[in-house]
Amino acid sequence: MTHAPPPGRARVWSGRLGLLLAGLAVGGLTFLLALQVRAGSGDGTTTVAPSGDAVASAPAPDPTTAAPEPEVTETAPPPPLAGLTVAVDPGHNGGNGANPLTVNAPVPDGRGGTKACNTVGASTDAGYPEHAFTWDVAGRLAARLAELGAVVVLTRPDDAGVGPCVDARGRLPQEEGADLLVSLHANGTPDRRAHGFFAIVADPPVHEAQGQPSVALAHDLVAALGAAGFAPSSTVAADDGPLQRRADLATLNHAERPAVMLELGEMRNPDEAAVMESEEGRQRYADAVAAGITAWAGADG
Ligand SMILES: [Zn+2]
Repeated sequence: MTHAPPPGRARVWSGRLGLLLAGLAVGGLTFLLALQVRAGSGDGTTTVAPSGDAVASAPAPDPTTAAPEPEVTETAPPPPLAGLTVAVDPGHNGGNGANPLTVNAPVPDGRGGTKACNTVGASTDAGYPEHAFTWDVAGRLAARLAELGAVVVLTRPDDAGVGPCVDARGRLPQEEGADLLVSLHANGTPDRRAHGFFAIVADPPVHEAQGQPSVALAHDLVAALGAAGFAPSSTVAADDGPLQRRADLATLNHAERPAVMLELGEMRNPDEAAVMESEEGRQRYADAVAAGITAWAGADG
């Protein structure tokens, strides 16, 4: 992973709608987070980008009172994910359930067949839906990644629309110049004893990035979720961890960058449902996924 400034950084500031979200202190410097929705593009993409502008605009010291320049000037190191662009896919969408014709329409599955545009997704027994869970975790993850210096692109701009279809979600990383794609989901196994997270990669690979590069990303994400105290899946196991290799997921099949789908837990399991329904639990998921991406970016470089 090279950490040169991404060529697309300028464009994220050129949109029609910019919303200042928050100021974050990173390495003693103040960074501003901007959430920009490209409302006119119609592709539903949302971009979150860090900016170091606040540093450059600091007022010059008064020459009459300023201390002498130190002989050695310490430069703050770049944030750990500077130069990385991350595509984050919050699975499903809030309007899918009310729009079956759109959601069930066939789209290319990335292997010469077709697949439904999208699905409604799972929910907890209390009715907390998967689309709301993935949307919330994605927002927390995007904020954390931006704090670490990454540019983040999301596959959908809100939690009230329909789609986008799975093929469009999978194409996002190459269309937006992202280095990787992480698709966030939670599983809905009816057996309430089933629990734990697992990762999925496309197999056999359609594109080069879907082979070992995606498996390596999955290993780092799985390790980070385990290190954060989440339990690996009780039902999915491979020689190299809770990792499924599947040919039928269009989001993964279309991605031409390392791409992993994460089933972060089982929504019908009462214990895991309680974690997903809590803000604290969703923050833990987001922090763990960010840690996995950070580990991958470091190992890759
Ligand atoms: Zn899902």
